[in-house]
Amino acid sequence: MAKPPLKFTLRFRGEIRDSAAARKPGTSRRAFLQQAAAMATAAISSASLAAFGAQIAKETNGQSSAQPWFRRALRWGQTNITELDPTRYDIPWWRGYWKRTGIQGVIVNAGGIVAYYPSKFPLHRRARFLGERDLFGELARAAHEEGLAVLARMDSGGAGEEFYQAHPDWFAVDAGGQPYRARGLYVSCINGPYYREYIPDLLREIAGRYQPEGFTDNSWSGLGRGSICQCENCARRFRDQAGQSLPAQSNWDDLVYRDWIRWSYGCRLEIWDLNNAVTREAGGPNCVWAGMNGGSIAGQCQSFRDYKAICERSEIILLDHQSRNDASGFQNNGETGKLIHGLLGWDKLIPESMALYQAGRTTFRFSAKPEPEARLWMLEGFAGGIQPWWHHLGAYQEDRRAFHIAEPINRWHRANEAYLINRAPVATVGVVWSQQNTDFYGRDDAELLVEQPWRGITQALVRARIPYLPIHADHLERGPARFAALILPNLSVMTDTQVASVRKFVAQGGGVLATGETSSCDEWGQPRPDFALADLLGAHAIERRAAANDSAPRKSMAGAQHTYLRLSSPLASNAAGVPFAKTPFPAPPRHPVLRGFEETDILPFGGTLEPLRVDAGARVLLTLVPAFPVYPPEAVWMREPVTNIPGLILNEQARQGRVAFLPADLDRRFANDNLPDHGNLLAQLVSWVARDEFPLLVEGPGLVDCHLYRQPGRLILHLVNLTSAGTWRIKVNLGQEVRGRSLKFLVSAQKSPGRVNGGWVSFEIKSVLDHEVVVIG
Ligand SMILES: [Zn+2]
Repeated sequence: MAKPPLKFTLRFRGEIRDSAAARKPGTSRRAFLQQAAAMATAAISSASLAAFGAQIAKETNGQSSAQPWFRRALRWGQTNITELDPTRYDIPWWRGYWKRTGIQGVIVNAGGIVAYYPSKFPLHRRARFLGERDLFGELARAAHEEGLAVLARMDSGGAGEEFYQAHPDWFAVDAGGQPYRARGLYVSCINGPYYREYIPDLLREIAGRYQPEGFTDNSWSGLGRGSICQCENCARRFRDQAGQSLPAQSNWDDLVYRDWIRWSYGCRLEIWDLNNAVTREAGGPNCVWAGMNGGSIAGQCQSFRDYKAICERSEIILLDHQSRNDASGFQNNGETGKLIHGLLGWDKLIPESMALYQAGRTTFRFSAKPEPEARLWMLEGFAGGIQPWWHHLGAYQEDRRAFHIAEPINRWHRANEAYLINRAPVATVGVVWSQQNTDFYGRDDAELLVEQPWRGITQALVRARIPYLPIHADHLERGPARFAALILPNLSVMTDTQVASVRKFVAQGGGVLATGETSSCDEWGQPRPDFALADLLGAHAIERRAAANDSAPRKSMAGAQHTYLRLSSPLASNAAGVPFAKTPFPAPPRHPVLRGFEETDILPFGGTLEPLRVDAGARVLLTLVPAFPVYPPEAVWMREPVTNIPGLILNEQARQGRVAFLPADLDRRFANDNLPDHGNLLAQLVSWVARDEFPLLVEGPGLVDCHLYRQPGRLILHLVNLTSAGTWRIKVNLGQEVRGRSLKFLVSAQKSPGRVNGGWVSFEIKSVLDHEVVVIG
């Protein structure tokens, strides 16, 4: 039997601004709503779009050699060189591969741990099998002959025995004065002469001798958060800047430790700025030192890499985020691109190192990644505005299947590159995050406290085909004019400014869904006496809440318990608190957010809840049924079937946006248990707070990740099929600027006239194997 078709409906709101315009605060939400209302038929030609068009005209011509490399090079490649490779690097063969894969830039190992060129610095040890060869120089010359940009890859993070013996005080030490070791190396200290003098000398040498377009380094930020360097340089700098002695150990309740966390971020930014000053002075203004950054915010926290501050000072982000993980799936790559573009702007590039070897849960550096696995990760990256960068480890590969992955996908990328860059995302839902929340609320449990709630919310959005954008909590004043709703997934740490921004957003008519412990801590992770957003949430903490690092409530968050949520109903219980069994009476009307649950009075939960005081006027739609045994069957009955402990509170004030507060951690539960009830309820809450203002409505089966963009005069819809093939029928509501007469399918290479009727265009896609991109002109 044929699958039911998947129907798409797309709507376009008037206000779609480019990232530069979006940074200018001032457009009020109400003005925007009026504007949107005036554009009920989705007129879209506005001054800001015209400006965006001009910007694109200026910037899209990727081939123009007047553009600096960091705007021009859209496809990258990297053969990460081993010490043995100087004996077997077949440069002519690799030149052919560069051509076949259509790359425009290469990342070539230059120095750091070992040198791949004859360095004048005696401690810059040559790679073991380099001999007299200048492999970096040969590769840089070959790449320049092919017209490719060259990034010299460094590794500043460690050195061997000889170096350590020469300068033991340049390396990180523990409280006992013992050097830290990692990767078989001594870990160089971020605050010592190794980073502050020696590496800059190498950068000058390489920039002067070889003229690479820029530099990269994926091990640039020194010792991670798990260790505290107690060397003299760190002690002196910390004393000078913070007026304290270094903390002896990790203790989040110690103010000095939290000072050290902030100071440690600052030290890494000093390195970022120092290296950029050095390479630009030695290699010219476009000789950017771009470091490398990861795709996980918790990972960036562990390395003291402040993503927002880094993006503010960067022309390009080189993203080291090579593979899917089981928890977050392929869709994580699309989301990561959008998150970073939100910080960096949509006019800049984010090439991503994409491992073509088996990387991830089990790593086999020399085995090809299964082709569909590599391909779908890359396709999701494209959908999120990421550029491809193939990555092989080693210049000689015995698993030649790895060489067949990049060529076809890069050929497609090259043919369609104009549609894949310099575009503005279209979404009406913003999901709010901050690195501070991961640090000072997540602390050592960021996966449980921050990442799982985030994942549950965003996976529910993908499942419901609701386009969303990650938005930094400091940027709420720039972006939300575009948004109908903001989601705060357990955003516990909020600064007073961030709180004020959310308040303003709601006052101007924007909807909010807040979950868990949102706004319960100040910017240092110190519990507040009540939720900072209590008035919006319609709920107040009753007792002094447990300290953020109290392990008992965390334990209860981690594992599913046998708890339920009771749907409010006037018939839910009798005077004695005993719930009625199914009554012969028709069920009372329930709130629309509980649509689909008409035939149940309870929902599975799994978490626990604490009592809250609820404001008059706020409505409690779900209450806790506390845990009771699951075994033996004789014991399975509710000991306390009805409580007044709220799990879901809706608060709607006149002339303000709708607010839904979900103290029940259904986001975290959905990330862990994947129960459809939880995903459906989360999506329905988003629909309610957003007043169904979505640019894209899809009915039908399948897990399809939908990303919508616009460029002047056209709309671009990426569909990434995370389930299987099917026949999809699609209906798009057109703006005035888009006529809808021409449809171009960039993957199946078809053209179709489309059937235009009453401002809508309808069309069918016979099948989507893994992805499709539809350009509606
Ligand atoms: Zn140190």
